[in-house]
Amino acid sequence: MDVRSIPCAFCKGEGVYSHTQITCTVCHGQGRVSVEGPTVECPQCRGTGMEAKSRLPCLGCGGFGVLPLKQEKGRLPRIS
Ligand SMILES: [Zn+2]
Ligand SMILES: [Zn+2]
Repeated sequence: MDVRSIPCAFCKGEGVYSHTQITCTVCHGQGRVSVEGPTVECPQCRGTGMEAKSRLPCLGCGGFGVLPLKQEKGRLPRIS
């Protein structure tokens, strides 16, 4: 682990905005589904339990989940 990096406070290190995440409607957030057989990874969310399209990159860290301990001015992530 890079000791010069700190977890992003906006996303708590997840790299995505948690409040933009929508619970998967297929598995209802379980990440797995069972339809007449062994439980398998939910194909809709790929096991995350969240709708993939709702996982927007965190604007605070650009989706990395961490921030450099020493902020560089003028080099904030740009989301176009
Ligand atoms: Zn799912
Ligand atoms: Zn972040």
